[in-house]
Amino acid sequence: AQRQLVEHERLAALGELSAVVAHEVRNPLGAIFNALATLRRFVEPAAPSNTLVTILEEEANRLNRLVDDLLDFARPPAPELYPVPLSRLLEEAVRTATSGQSRIRVEWALQPDVPPVPVDERMMRQAFLNLALNAVQAMPQGGTLRVTAHRCSESPGAIVEFTDTGSGIPPELRERLFKPFFTTKATGTGLGLAIVQRTLDAHGGHILIESPPGGGTTFRLVLPLLPQVEAQAG
Ligand code: ADP
Ligand code: MG
Repeated sequence: AQRQLVEHERLAALGELSAVVAHEVRNPLGAIFNALATLRRFVEPAAPSNTLVTILEEEANRLNRLVDDLLDFARPPAPELYPVPLSRLLEEAVRTATSGQSRIRVEWALQPDVPPVPVDERMMRQAFLNLALNAVQAMPQGGTLRVTAHRCSESPGAIVEFTDTGSGIPPELRERLFKPFFTTKATGTGLGLAIVQRTLDAHGGHILIESPPGGGTTFRLVLPLLPQVEAQAG
C-alpha cells in the first residue's frame, strides 16, 4: 500500500508537471503555426525551400499532438459518470481512428445485452480512440479491426474488446506498455495507454491484453455496472 501511495504521488507530480509544460509549449507553438502559414504564402510551391516548410509543419504538428496528449494525461481524474450507450462512443472513436485508412477493415460485434454502464463520456471516448488508433497503427499494411461489446458473465458490467491483426505484442513488453512515455514508435508520445489505464482506474474497471504468438492483439476492457471508485486524495 505504501508503494502504491508513492506511485500515486509520483504520477500526480508527473501530471502537474505535464500540465505546466504543455501550457508553456502551447503559446510559442501557436506563434510558430502562424508564422508558418505566412511563410507558406511567400515560398514558391516548386521551390526547394518549400520542402523545409513542410518539415517544419510536420514537426510542429507532432509537438502539437504531444501537447494534446500531455494535457489529457495531466487532467485530474474526476469522472462524471452517466449511463451512455457504449456503441455510440465506440462508433465515434473508430470512425475518427479509421478515417482515410482504406486498408483497414472494421468488423463490428456489438451485442444488444450490454448493460448501461456509467461512464464519463469524454474520457471513455478518448480511451476508445487511443485503443483504436493503436490498432490501426499496428497494421501499417492494412488488416482488420474487430470491435466487440457484450455483457460480462462473471460480474455485472460490460466487456469491450479491440482486436487487430497486427504485429502483436511480445510478452516482455506487456508490463511496460501502460507506463507514461513508453513507446516503440518513431513519432509516438507513449501516453495513449497511460491515459487508457487512468480512465479505467477512474471507472473502477480494468484492462487485459491478449497477444497470441501467431500475431494480432486484443485489448479487453471490463467496465463495472456499479463502479466502486476509490476517492482520489488531493
Ligand atoms: P504510442 O501509441 O504513442 O506509442 P501508447 O501508450 O498508445 O503510445 O502505446 C505504447 C506502445 O504499446 C506502442 O508504442 C506499441 O509498442 C504498443 N502497442 C499498443 N497497442 C498496440 C497494438 N494494438 N499492437 C501492437 N503494439 C501495440
Ligand atoms: Mg497510442
